[in-house]
Amino acid sequence: MKSRESNLIKIIAIGPLIFIPLFVIAIILIIIIEHEQNFEKTLSKVEENLINIEKKAIKSKIDGISDLIAYQNDLTVKKLTLRIKDRVNSSHKIATNIYNKYKNTKSQKEIKSLIITSLSPLSWNNDESFIFILDYNGVFHLAPNYLKHLEGTSIIDFQDANGIFVIKEEIETVKTKNEGFLWDKFTKPTDPSTNSYDQVVFVKALGFYNLYLGSGEYLETASKISSNEILKAIQKISENTSEYIFVFDTNGNILLNDSTPEYVNKNFYKIKDKSIKDVYLLLLKSIKSVDNKFSRYSWVNPETNKEEVKYSYIKKVPNTNWIIGSGFYESTIKSNAAVQVTKLYEDYHMRISYILTIGFISILISLVCSYVVSKYLKSQFLKYKSRILNKSGELKQLNKSLEDKVKDRTEELEKSRESLEVLATTDALTKIHNRYSIMNIMEQEIRKLSRCGGNLCIALFDIDKFKDINDNYGHDVGDIVLCTLSSFVNNFLRESDIMGRYGGEEFLIIYKNTMLKDACIVSERVRKSVSEHKFNENVKQVTISIGLVEYQNDESVDELFKRLDILLYKSKNEGRNKLSF
Ligand code: GH3
Ligand code: MG
Ligand code: MG
Repeated sequence: MKSRESNLIKIIAIGPLIFIPLFVIAIILIIIIEHEQNFEKTLSKVEENLINIEKKAIKSKIDGISDLIAYQNDLTVKKLTLRIKDRVNSSHKIATNIYNKYKNTKSQKEIKSLIITSLSPLSWNNDESFIFILDYNGVFHLAPNYLKHLEGTSIIDFQDANGIFVIKEEIETVKTKNEGFLWDKFTKPTDPSTNSYDQVVFVKALGFYNLYLGSGEYLETASKISSNEILKAIQKISENTSEYIFVFDTNGNILLNDSTPEYVNKNFYKIKDKSIKDVYLLLLKSIKSVDNKFSRYSWVNPETNKEEVKYSYIKKVPNTNWIIGSGFYESTIKSNAAVQVTKLYEDYHMRISYILTIGFISILISLVCSYVVSKYLKSQFLKYKSRILNKSGELKQLNKSLEDKVKDRTEELEKSRESLEVLATTDALTKIHNRYSIMNIMEQEIRKLSRCGGNLCIALFDIDKFKDINDNYGHDVGDIVLCTLSSFVNNFLRESDIMGRYGGEEFLIIYKNTMLKDACIVSERVRKSVSEHKFNENVKQVTISIGLVEYQNDESVDELFKRLDILLYKSKNEGRNKLSF
């Protein structure tokens, strides 16, 4: 008991000191492990993330530039058509003014000649573009210098590179709509080759002599001007970003590439360096296979002058034969990743040391707290212990006094039980056994007799003419007579004989272990003594009549009393103051 108690005090004192710091350490360990796992996850994704971010950036850059070029081209065509229309309209005004001025004074031939003379000097783009006049029969009235030999002849059956009867189309347009744009494909006067180029033509009816005028311009010429501007702009973008942009066309012409500037404006099909040619072919192939895809290949890094792994995204600009692209070197990403990883490591170490510091402080605090708590618990425990000891002493005392009280009460109860029993078995008036008690005793004696054998006699006596006593001297006197008689008779009996009041003035006597003749003797003596006794001044004589029987084997109480009644009746009948048995 004592050792168990000291163990408990030890647990209270040391328990919190061990468990609270252990708990804090466990939490810190969990935090660090979680942190470590997260850190490793982040670390493994750094390179992948950087590559993805770079890819996204490059893709959006190239897509943006491609949209810009498409827009620029669109603008070029719009500007071109406006320019031509403007030229034709200005020339139309000049021709109309001449006609209006001289139509009444000069001949048709003179007016035509005046118009041709004033419009023939107009030419643009190194004579590539000019004003031409034809009539509705296709006869050339104003031709450019290089076609001067055709003036005066009909070229109505002329076909362009696509085999279209362009003159017939022009005549149809001016006849039906007065003016309009047409697209055709022609060789260029400035290009000695047989290549043909897209040209925009605007024609307008003059309104007299069935003449119309027009002008055209090669799209390629117009585009070349804007292309150069676009290339310059792209070059600027390229210079301002970390990844240079390269441009080439589907014919193999390299238009922009800062890493190999010596090949710019050359056709890569004709380049001797096979490795460079192969890369262009790879890029070209990738654009044909899947659009918007990154190619991975080796290329000289202008920063290190070494061949390195490069990822490039290329795109064909819509409605052109241009291919633009940009890429990044794996080494750049790797070095960026390394920088990031170092930073992450620094961050990680800083956070871990932060956690450890916090953890150390928490352990210290928890130690102090647990020391205070355990001290408090221990003092409380001891306080309760002494209180419990006091209480248990009090309890013991209380218990003892309770036990004493119970003992007293039990004795009292026993006494009252005894007095109650006396009350229950004693006749209130005569203080001898009442009817209930005397009957009980008789039944017990009968049972004893059937078990052990022996003799038992019962006498029943009744006071003679008792009513008269009551009537003559009053009920109280009757009562006194009853009391005196019962004690008087009782005195005559032996120790073992028991007498009880059976009814009003009827009494029963049990003679235990007594044979009938002995019982007769005693009963007779009782009868005689009663008749001779002087009870008081008024009642000079009291007599009793007695019936006496001996209990017979297996006889019931009823049968016994029947016999007793008969005998008592007999005594009364035979004059009273008699014993019958
Ligand atoms: P008998 O000789 O035939 O017995 O005549 P009796 O007058 O005694 O007649 P009975 O036995 O019928 O009458 C009994 C009377 O006893 C009637 C009743 O008033 C009286 N008595 C019964 N108990 C008491 C009692 O406790 N006190 C008094 N004073 N009288 C009692
Ligand atoms: Mg009677
Ligand atoms: Mg009577």
